[in-house]
Amino acid sequence: MKVLVINCGSSSLKYQVLDMTNEVLECKGLVERIGIEGSTITHEKIGQDKFKLTTPMADHKDAIGHVMDALVDPDHGVVKDMSEIGAVGHRVVHAGEKYAESVRIDDSVIAALEECVDLAPLHNPPNLLGIAACQELMPNTPMVGVFDTAFHQTMPPESYIYAIPYEYYEKYGIRRYGFHGTSHKYVAERCADIMNVDIKDLKIITCHLGNGASVTAIKRGQVLDTSMGLTPLQGLVMGTRSGDIDPAIVTFIREKEGLAPGEANEILNKKSGVLGISGVSSDFRDLEAAAEEGNERAMLALKAFAHKVRFYIGAYIAEMNGCDAIVFTAGVGENDIAMRDIICNDLGNLGIKLDLVKNKVRGKETIISRDDSKVTVMLIPTNEELMIARDTYRLCK
Ligand code: ADP
Repeated sequence: MKVLVINCGSSSLKYQVLDMTNEVLECKGLVERIGIEGSTITHEKIGQDKFKLTTPMADHKDAIGHVMDALVDPDHGVVKDMSEIGAVGHRVVHAGEKYAESVRIDDSVIAALEECVDLAPLHNPPNLLGIAACQELMPNTPMVGVFDTAFHQTMPPESYIYAIPYEYYEKYGIRRYGFHGTSHKYVAERCADIMNVDIKDLKIITCHLGNGASVTAIKRGQVLDTSMGLTPLQGLVMGTRSGDIDPAIVTFIREKEGLAPGEANEILNKKSGVLGISGVSSDFRDLEAAAEEGNERAMLALKAFAHKVRFYIGAYIAEMNGCDAIVFTAGVGENDIAMRDIICNDLGNLGIKLDLVKNKVRGKETIISRDDSKVTVMLIPTNEELMIARDTYRLCK
């Protein structure tokens, strides 16, 4: 069966087609500037040059229509007609407490996801638009929702409850949910495969370090804790997000600067993190270049980032009473050799010994700890699309 994977943002859409009989990626693509002048689709049939088309796309339905045209195109398509696509898997950010696993999408699922719009106002609406567009254009194709929050639903209450009046949890669902769940689950399962140990016998800390970043403690295959919270703003220092701060800072800055609530939110989400500290960039390559030229704030931003990752690693080792493996993934985790080095430096007492030579690698599944390291440290490129396709196939075959 061929599965179409859709990841819909507000003005962009990523897609892939995988043949799930052998888990082979057949094509992938990106639609950008949906509903904005200059809408473009970039499509790549694996093994062929990319194909790019700029043409007006008023909405997500238009965008999906162009994806379908690309999929059936005689030159760069991968199917003769759309009936060859056996199922569609949709990435959905927030499923609240409703779903701890992927589900076949029906009207009740749509209603549940609509209820979660308040919790993820930037993400769930475009996810829902993508689902609606696909349902309209492929009415007979089964669809599956795969949720970023699902894997983290295994967290125990003491990990997810915030120490604020309990009624806010009851009334509004204010609790820690966690994100990047599909990625954390994928790399944890790969880690267990590579170690050749049942995941139920492992304590794993997965570090998804990209523009958005989170760390998760996975004990016996279940999430014990994760660093993101009600929203993806909590936890690590990120590209442009603050991560953990004293909540009193929000009121303080609002009063001092006369900010509206939306503005404070914007500052914490878009102007903070390593960008906010350095004033240089949210991209770690730029920060490292600046730091090398002597920019002290760029250096401080990199150190603050590493500090917070180490902080969570230490906390999660305590929470799990040990750790068998630490996994690095996503843009920074997979590519930033120097950052992995700083994060793992001087953790010998916790049983973590990075091999500085093995660590000189990018984007490749590999063990990067020394043979005498009690904790196995690994680099595992994430593959959220494959996870979405697997769940979709499992629920629709
Ligand atoms: P997201 O999906 O959250 O947007 P990614 O996982 O794609 O983010 O990570 C993007 C980040 O990865 C970039 O902002 C950049 O800082 C970092 N990155 C990518 N390649 C490298 C590299 N070679 N060295 C250091 N950082 C890198």
